[in-house]
Amino acid sequence: MCLQENNTMKPHFGKIISELRSSIGQKFIYTDNEKLEAYNFDGTDLRYWPDIVVEPENRGQVSQLMKIATKYRIPVIPRGAGTGVTGGALPVKGGIVLSLLRMNKILSIDEINMTAFVEPGVINLDLHHAVSEKGLYYPPDPASYDTSTIGGNIAEDAGGPHCFKYGTTRDYILGLEIVLSDGTIMNTGVQTRKGVVGYDLTNLIVGSEGTLAIVTKAILRLIPLPARTITLLAFFSDIQTLAGDACFQNDALDVLLAESSEKRENLWAVRRKFRDLIKERSQFKFSEDVTVPIRQIPQLIEGARKIAAKHEFQNYNYGHLGDGNVHVNFTHHHKDETIVRRSESVVRELFELTVKLGGTISGEHGIGITKMNFLEIELSKKSIELQKKIKQVFDPLNILNPFKIFPPE
Ligand SMILES: Cc1cc2nc3c(=O)[nH]c(=O)nc-3n(C[C@H](O)[C@H](O)[C@H](O)COP(=O)(O)OP(=O)(O)OC[C@H]3O[C@@H](n4cnc5c(N)ncnc54)[C@H](O)[C@@H]3O)c2cc1C
Repeated sequence: MCLQENNTMKPHFGKIISELRSSIGQKFIYTDNEKLEAYNFDGTDLRYWPDIVVEPENRGQVSQLMKIATKYRIPVIPRGAGTGVTGGALPVKGGIVLSLLRMNKILSIDEINMTAFVEPGVINLDLHHAVSEKGLYYPPDPASYDTSTIGGNIAEDAGGPHCFKYGTTRDYILGLEIVLSDGTIMNTGVQTRKGVVGYDLTNLIVGSEGTLAIVTKAILRLIPLPARTITLLAFFSDIQTLAGDACFQNDALDVLLAESSEKRENLWAVRRKFRDLIKERSQFKFSEDVTVPIRQIPQLIEGARKIAAKHEFQNYNYGHLGDGNVHVNFTHHHKDETIVRRSESVVRELFELTVKLGGTISGEHGIGITKMNFLEIELSKKSIELQKKIKQVFDPLNILNPFKIFPPE
């Protein structure tokens, strides 16, 4: 879907651009169509054009940018690799896309403290490699781990297959360096395993989808590299019999054991292709990352099938069953306005079922713009009101990734 086809420079932008160039540096500011196009998309099918792209190399430049954005009240949209699937990195009403990709240094890895200090543009997989060379392990591993950034992972509290055992990104963030909407640079959290001084601002920033502050550095908690990894592929005839870890005792039809790291990687490669394979087989696909208490997974899947049948969609489910996080996919062989409108009822019914089962409408992808109209299914009016006040405290001019999470009033 292309919502804003062409970028036409707004008249007052000339002044802002020259101010950005003189305080941040000519070579970090872009307004050419080629560059703007490279930042007008993410992992959704939506397209929104920025007016300006800034690619800073350090926190001082990020701070300068926010001071200028505050002066002119222009939206700034932080962005990592742009793999987000809820539109969080999209400039929905134009403004400045702030790419953190050049801030990609692993600053230090401390084997005694078992911590790493990293810049936000570090790619998840690069961090995995760097820490494993020192016998250490950073568990959060979204399927996008070879492209997505630590900053984006923090902003979305990304999870992955290993999170069932080890927890999500949130569990590995000890402290942050952030830049606030007025350009102030500050630190949150600690470098230690313990720390209870004041409110937990670190945890507030994690999962805040770039709406409260820009992460310019993170202190990560590491653990010893596991001595052994075992990967199994087990087949069951239906979701009801899938229970417990002793697969054959629970009617598994077959179990494949990955006997080498190459075979293990092959199994995971197949798993990571599910999303694209489902997409290739249909004209219209949408997918939700609902999460329920694990006991309720069979009811969720049964319910998803019924909703699909009722509205004449196909339904495919995969995900992280250990966390109750099911990627519920709906597809249609045709796409037109009626079918798109019907898909909204499908999503609403799925979310209502999820919450009824004690679950949450997003386990790892966040709300962004694609889910904001469904927020009230899970959160009370009071909770939304309180959260909006938090946003106001952090960003009184509403310039930091505006028009995200909360539906317009
Ligand atoms: C093929 C594929 C597989 C995926 N698999 C998973 C999965 O298994 N688990 C999972 O959790 N997600 C998954 N995702 C979703 C996505 O990869 C994650 O949300 C990821 O964390 C986004 O990182 P990014 O660097 O691409 O961030 P972006 O998409 O660039 O940004 C995402 C959000 O983070 C904000 N942001 C980015 N950097 C910063 C920063 N430095 N400071 C403040 N805010 C910032 C942005 O404003 C935006 O709101 C998948 C996506 C794809 C396309």
